[in-house]
Amino acid sequence: MSSVQPKPANRIILLGAPGAGKGTVAKALVDLFGLSHLSTGDMLRAAVAAGTPLGVQAKGFMDAGALVPDELMVGLIADRVQQPDCKGSTGLVRFLLDGFPRTLPQADALDQSQLGPDLVVYLEVDDSVIVDRLCGRRTCPGCGSPFHIHFAAPKVPGICDRCGTALVHRSDDQEDAIRKRLEAFHRQTGPLVGRYASCLVKIDGALAPADVLTQVVSTLRSRGAIADDATQAASAVS
Ligand code: AMP
Repeated sequence: MSSVQPKPANRIILLGAPGAGKGTVAKALVDLFGLSHLSTGDMLRAAVAAGTPLGVQAKGFMDAGALVPDELMVGLIADRVQQPDCKGSTGLVRFLLDGFPRTLPQADALDQSQLGPDLVVYLEVDDSVIVDRLCGRRTCPGCGSPFHIHFAAPKVPGICDRCGTALVHRSDDQEDAIRKRLEAFHRQTGPLVGRYASCLVKIDGALAPADVLTQVVSTLRSRGAIADDATQAASAVS
């Protein structure tokens, strides 16, 4: 029996509503597969905190739960993928995108740069679950660790278990902003599910985090995502 092997997954997109669990899954995948985690939300928050021109432009959109304009986002990612950590030893561009693309024009920009995804992992979660998750979410501005006041409370309330920094309730994790972000997700990001149908795998993101991760990891393994550049080089020439 012959079977067509899918293209090895070097460029991976994590797709899902805000709060679907993309960040948690991404952190685990970085360790397992040695991919660079490109989170546009984290990059923008860093730019806002540093007061860069991008941060100043982005802040108002982010606080309102709206998307930052495409041209700013496309420029941000175009610069980021040039960094050495996105190149495997064979020169192949490898990354795990989290939060980008979020619109059809952003997906077009990726394709035009010959950086379209080999694999899209879509974490599907109901809006009601997302609202419960995000209203209680607390984030560490020091190391990025996520907590939840009910489901994953820190040992000392308000303090990060890992680095001792005071946790924050992000301004865009307030209920009004969450509902706007969900509306933006369905209207602007939803069409990407159809756009990427040929390379998209759906995972039930409402499962327990460990089960979500197990399914994502087995999907990546079955799609040839590997940590070792030497193995990758061998498979590229065989
Ligand atoms: P996130 O942490 O991924 O939920 O992103 C937080 C906020 O950053 C979003 O609500 C948007 O305002 C902005 N943002 C992040 N990624 C993008 C993107 N690809 N396009 C437009 N806005 C974005």
